[in-house]
Amino acid sequence: MLVMKFLACDRWSRLAPVILVFAIGAIPIRAADNVIALKAQRLFDGKSKSFVPNGVVVVQGDKIIDVGSNLTIPGNAQVIDLGDATLTPGFMDAHTHLTLDYSSDYNVRRLKELDLNVSEQAIIATAHARATVEAGFTTVRDLGSRFVGSREFVDVALRNSINKGVVVGPRMLVATKGIGATGGHFDPTSGFRDFLFGREPDYTDGIIDSPDEARKAVRFEVKNGADVIKAAVSGGVLSLVDEVDTPQLTPAEMAALVDESHRLRKKVAVHCHGDQAAREAIDSGVDSIEHGSFMKPETLTRMKNKGVFLTPTLMATEWIMSKLENYPPALQAKAKAAATARSDMFRNAVKLGVKISFGTDAAVFPHGQNAREFKLMVDLGMPQIEALRSATSYDAELLGIAQKTGSLEKGKLADIIAMPGDPSTDITTTERVFFVMKEGKIIRNGPPSGTAAAKETNSEEVTAPVD
Ligand SMILES: [Zn+2]
Repeated sequence: MLVMKFLACDRWSRLAPVILVFAIGAIPIRAADNVIALKAQRLFDGKSKSFVPNGVVVVQGDKIIDVGSNLTIPGNAQVIDLGDATLTPGFMDAHTHLTLDYSSDYNVRRLKELDLNVSEQAIIATAHARATVEAGFTTVRDLGSRFVGSREFVDVALRNSINKGVVVGPRMLVATKGIGATGGHFDPTSGFRDFLFGREPDYTDGIIDSPDEARKAVRFEVKNGADVIKAAVSGGVLSLVDEVDTPQLTPAEMAALVDESHRLRKKVAVHCHGDQAAREAIDSGVDSIEHGSFMKPETLTRMKNKGVFLTPTLMATEWIMSKLENYPPALQAKAKAAATARSDMFRNAVKLGVKISFGTDAAVFPHGQNAREFKLMVDLGMPQIEALRSATSYDAELLGIAQKTGSLEKGKLADIIAMPGDPSTDITTTERVFFVMKEGKIIRNGPPSGTAAAKETNSEEVTAPVD
């Protein structure tokens, strides 16, 4: 309307600044705005119940400008034909710990954590970030980062460095320090000699013992950069002095924690193996239950009715069970109990229609092997297409970023990956992603970079190479 008014005016001199503004707007053809058309034999948009043949995604800058089957490709586009492959949205992992690595011998790792400077551990974490994004995971919800005796926020630093383009890695939503009770799963001093670190941990370490302290911890974490709040409401496997399924926060503490988080527009993810703790957490309004090993069908039904997500992290138990000798006897017993319970729990969750988010607990196993979770889900009764939706549109919903990413649609961020063949007939092809684009930038097209490749060969569970 403003332009029309100017055009109606005879005083052309007034038009000059308008023309200039429009011209400046039209001039820049930055490299970032190049048009790229990705082609592959199949395409999964992240939401549909089936694939389309001859998939095309047209990308300009950091966004998808067109997507579909047999599209006419714009003349100015650089065409990348990926052949007998499947294009999907970048995968998401709703449960990682990119700053940590628990995958080797438990006691050696524990000692190393005390030996290494936190700065050095932060630098090591950049390799975990690269391995993760190169495996096709363009977004992670990173659920807890702490180094005993340190107040550093390494996950915030890693997220910010990735956002600034200093480090190659996935988009991160970070939780800072997991919140839990004194002596509970998240107490970083548990299992060490009393007062070895000079003081009992407090809210600045995520350790709380009252509803007021729960609020204080949430406020402190959001102040320091948390995107999401993580709490341990029951015991866990990889902690030395608690039982795996005991409730560890009271309903009043959970209610305060959830209320404060939601007031600050942050979602709450709770680490929880035990059934009683899960029921109390669901009733307090949490957004997702992580692990959930001992949840009974009635508890799962309660989750379904309240729309609470389950993040099963099957890979974590799988890894620990395959390397049991790496863990102290007390942890072996907890791992066995959780592993026995979780398969039935997961089958029940699928049957009952609980919303299942894709999340692995990467750090318990080597970073970059996240996609092995798909086969575990499918083997326990989840249809392939549901597993793929779980790692794309369902995770985007849980993370609260569905308006930006998680599906291949016009206007969404260009987070796009490709894997050979057809994951609806062979789900393990998700472990062989060979093309990764994040926000329009190609991170990988072919074999992984040196760092990630070295990581793959160093680990004992090597993913099959791309041919
Ligand atoms: Zn975890």
